[in-house]
Amino acid sequence: MRKRPLGQNFLIDPEITQKIIELADIKPGDSVVEIGPGKGVLTQRLLSITPSLTVIELDPKLCREIKNRFCKDHPDIKIMEGDAAKFDYSSLKPGFKVVSNLPYYAATPIMKKLIHFGSRIQNMTLMMQKEVVDRLTAQPGNREYSSLSVFVQYHCQVERLLEIPNTAFSPRPQIDSSLFSLKPLARPKVQVEDPQLFFKIVNAAFFHKRKMLKNNLKLWKKHFIDQQGQTRLAGIDLSRRGETLSMSDFANMANYLYSPNE
Ligand code: SAM
Repeated sequence: MRKRPLGQNFLIDPEITQKIIELADIKPGDSVVEIGPGKGVLTQRLLSITPSLTVIELDPKLCREIKNRFCKDHPDIKIMEGDAAKFDYSSLKPGFKVVSNLPYYAATPIMKKLIHFGSRIQNMTLMMQKEVVDRLTAQPGNREYSSLSVFVQYHCQVERLLEIPNTAFSPRPQIDSSLFSLKPLARPKVQVEDPQLFFKIVNAAFFHKRKMLKNNLKLWKKHFIDQQGQTRLAGIDLSRRGETLSMSDFANMANYLYSPNE
């Protein structure tokens, strides 16, 4: 059986590594979670700032290496062997920060899992494939604006921090990466009565990106209103495409369609 690749592209550029640590703004005494420590390049620098570090690594061999390298001098380090996309982050004391050069293949599910536990997290400094970060930071009207942009920006303040060329890694990946920060919001960006309905509409609106909303939102057709030659829903012209709608537009639609008894 072919061994599953674990997105093991290790950082080899000391200047970029240092920059990442500076941008993560880790203070002495912070509790930090590092996902995928790999060979420990970021781990070592994190431990030079704060002793309270939990690492989550899927590869048993790398876990052993991290243990052998760091446990003796850093007795507070916790090493969790397992999948960061399945980890129960509520088992950790709230208020921690997350730092990770995420494995490409699992970056989005791991990020979504972290957002799910966002109320326990101060901030996350994450590295992902550049194209995905383009989507996370995209605004309405941008080509990259998608349901993932709305999901992440609904829950978090997103900031792009640094571009990282593929030459910073070994083995060298085919793609470039970007570093960004996510700060979970105490309250979602917009107020919606029913978040499930809100995301159902958002996902439907982007389902066929090039189609008009009137085609993507057929499920709610009975609520469409024809006004002066335009088809509208919650006042929004449905000849528009999902990618032009702001978060507030989506919230208005969801609240308009919300019916507590349905
Ligand atoms: N932090 C190291 C660095 O920057 O050099 C390694 C980063 S490498 C891109 C991703 C790391 O995540 C690898 O060590 C890999 O084994 C680990 N990994 C892959 N899938 C994982 C998962 N689902 N949960 C936790 N760690 C994972």
